[in-house]
Amino acid sequence: MTEPSAAARCPQSSPAPTYAAAITLEDFRRNLAAVRTRIDAAAKRAGRDAAEIRLLPVTKTVPEERLRTAFAAGITQMGENKVQEAQRKSENLADLGISWSVIGHLQTNKAKNVAAFADEFQALDSLRLAEALDRRLQAAGRGLDVYVQVNSSGEPSKFGLEPADVADFLAALPAYSSLRVRGLMTLAANTDDAARVRECFSIMRRLRDAALQAGTVGDGLLSMGMSGDFEAAIEGGSTCVRVGQAIFGARATPDSHYWPESPHADQLQTDQPPASS
Ligand SMILES: *Cc1c(COP(=O)(O)O)cnc(C)c1O
Repeated sequence: MTEPSAAARCPQSSPAPTYAAAITLEDFRRNLAAVRTRIDAAAKRAGRDAAEIRLLPVTKTVPEERLRTAFAAGITQMGENKVQEAQRKSENLADLGISWSVIGHLQTNKAKNVAAFADEFQALDSLRLAEALDRRLQAAGRGLDVYVQVNSSGEPSKFGLEPADVADFLAALPAYSSLRVRGLMTLAANTDDAARVRECFSIMRRLRDAALQAGTVGDGLLSMGMSGDFEAAIEGGSTCVRVGQAIFGARATPDSHYWPESPHADQLQTDQPPASS
C-alpha cells in the first residue's frame, strides 16, 4: 500500500445546493424517498447491494418539534455533531427511543456525556479520548460502537488522524474493551473537484482494507458521504452516509460553526459573528 501523495490531498472550496426545509410528514417522506432512490442508484452503478448502505440522518440545528415529525416518517436514528445538542434532544425525545450517534469532535471532558446517552460515536481521534470514554463506559456498565475519524483531505485544520497514524492507533484500541470498533469515518474535502473528493474516499478504502487484513477494524465499516457527496462516497465504498440537508433542508448555521477551525471559516462568517457554544 502506498501513502497518499500530497497532490492527492484536497483543498477546500465551496457551497452546496440549497434544499427547502422539511416541515410536514409528507415533506419528510418525500425527501427520504428521494435520498434512498439516489443511494440505490449509486449502489447499482457501483455494483453494490444497497442494503449494505446505512442512511444516518443528521439532525443538527433541527428543533425537537420537527424531529418528532421526522420520527413519524420513519427516521429512528439521528446523528448530531455537538454533544450538548445531542444530549438535550435525547432527553427531550426520550419517549421515542431514538438511537443517537455523535459524529463530531469531542473534548475529553465531555466523554461522560457521550457515555451517558449515545449509541454510537463516530469521531474517535485520540487515545486520550478512548481512555476517557472507556473509563466512563466501564463505570456505567455500557459498551459503545465507535468509528475512528481520519483526516483524508489533508486539510491541516480538519479533525481526525493522519492516514499514516491509523494503523498504530487501531492496534492500540483493544486496550479499551468497552469500545466496539466498527470502522473508519471521514469528511472528504469540501470542493467541487470530483476527482479530489474521490481520492479522499479511496484513501479511506485503502486504510480500511489494510486494517481488515491486520484484523484491527472490526467489521471494517466506512462512514463517509454527506448531502453534497454521498453518491461518490457510495461508489467509493461507503457503508454509512451521513445526510442532513438533503433530508431536513438547508441549515442557516454556517458549517464553520461545526468545523470552527476550518480555513473556510473566515469566509463563511463574514456576515455573522462567530457562534459561541
Ligand atoms: C453536518 C454533518 C453532516 C451532514 O452534512 P449535510 O451537508 O447536512 O448532509 C455529516 N457529517 C458530519 C460530521 C456533520 O457534522
